Amino acid sequence: MRILITGGAGFIGSHLCDRLLDDGHEVIAIDNLSTGNMDNIAHLFGNERFSFIKHDVTNYVYVSGPLDAVLHLASLPSPVDYLEKPIQTLKVGALGTHKTLGLAKAKQARFLLASTSEVYGDPLEHPQPEEYWGNVNPVGPRGVYDESKRFAEALTMAYHRAHGIDTRIVRIFNTYGPRMRLDDGRVVPNFLRQALRGEPLTVYDDGSRTRSFCYVSDLVEGIVCLLHSDEIYPVNLGNPNEMTIHEFAKRVLDVSGSRSAIAFITPKDERTKDDPQTRRPDITKAQRVLGWTPKVSLDEGLGRTVAWFRSRV
Ligand code: NAD
Ligand code: UDP
Repeated sequence: MRILITGGAGFIGSHLCDRLLDDGHEVIAIDNLSTGNMDNIAHLFGNERFSFIKHDVTNYVYVSGPLDAVLHLASLPSPVDYLEKPIQTLKVGALGTHKTLGLAKAKQARFLLASTSEVYGDPLEHPQPEEYWGNVNPVGPRGVYDESKRFAEALTMAYHRAHGIDTRIVRIFNTYGPRMRLDDGRVVPNFLRQALRGEPLTVYDDGSRTRSFCYVSDLVEGIVCLLHSDEIYPVNLGNPNEMTIHEFAKRVLDVSGSRSAIAFITPKDERTKDDPQTRRPDITKAQRVLGWTPKVSLDEGLGRTVAWFRSRV
C-alpha cells in the first residue's frame, strides 16, 4: 500500500511509520513540526519507500500519485500545547481533518482518524465503552481539543455516509513510550524527566485522578489491525490497567530507581480545569472485532521508556 501519515514526525506517528515500512508499505509522512521532531524519523531517510513533506495540514494538501490510505494523526495533543495554541488545535482537528478527508476522497483512499478518549470528557460512565457519548465542556480550556476531535469524528462519518469513503476511527487512550517530547507537559514525560534529574515528581492536586497507560507498540499493533479491518464505527484502543496518578508516580520511582520526592501541587494555570477524574478504556470491542489486546506490562513499557529518556535527560 502507498500510505500517507499526517503527524508522521510525532511520537505515535513516527512509530507507525516504522511499523508500516517494516510491513513492506510505502510511507509518506506529512508534518509541520509544531510538536513533532525530525529526530523521530531521521533513521528512515535512507529508505527509498519513505518520504517526508513539511506542511501544515490545515492548508490544502497536495500529494502526487495514487494513495491507498490516509492516516490523520496531526494534532496538538498535550494539554500544555493546546492551552497555549487553542486556535491551532481547533484548526488541525477541524480544517486538517477536512483537508485530509478531501484528499482521501480524491484518491479513493481509505481514511483513518486518530481520535481520543477525550471525546468522553470527564466521563460519567466507567470504564468507557464506544457507545458512551461523553461529558465534555465545550467552552472550557480543554474544549478546543475535545470538540475538535468530536467534530473530526462527525466529519469522518459524514464523508463515509455522503461520499462512501472507507473510514476508520480509533479512540486512543493515554499512550506512552520512547520519542515522547521531554517537555510536552504530559504526565509520563514530566515524571520521567523529573525522576531522572532527581527533582520532585509534580502530582497535581491530591493525585487521586486515574488514568490507564498503554505502551506504544501495543497501540500501533491495534491501529494496524483496525486499518485492515472492516470496522467503520469508533474503536477504543488502550490498556485497561487503571491507577491513580499518585500510584503512577510511585511506579515511576520504582522502575527508574529514582530517589525523587513526590510533590503535590496545584497548578496556577487552567491545565487541571475539567481534568477527567477517571479514565479506563472498555476494550471489549477491540478484542472482539480486531482480536487485539495489549501485551506489554507497565513495568516493561516504563523500563523501555526510562532507558530512552535516560540517554536524553
Ligand atoms: P505528537 O505531538 O507527538 O504528534 C502530533 C504530530 O502532529 C506532531 O508531529 C505535530 O508536529 C503534528 N502536527 C500538529 N499540527 C499539525 C499541522 N497543522 N500540520 C501538520 N502536522 C501537524 O502527539 P502523539 O501523542 O503522537 O499524538 C498523535 C495522535 O494521537 C494525535 O492525533 C493525538 O490526538 C492522538 N492521541 C494521542 C494520545 C497519547 O496518549 N499519546 C492519546 C489520545 C489521542
Ligand atoms: N498530571 C500530574 N502531574 C504532571 C502532569 C500531569 O499530576 O506533571 C496529571 C494530570 O492532571 C492528569 C493526568 O496526570 O490528571 C494525566 O495528564 P496528561 O497531561 O498526561 O494527559 P491527559 O490524560 O489529561 O490528557
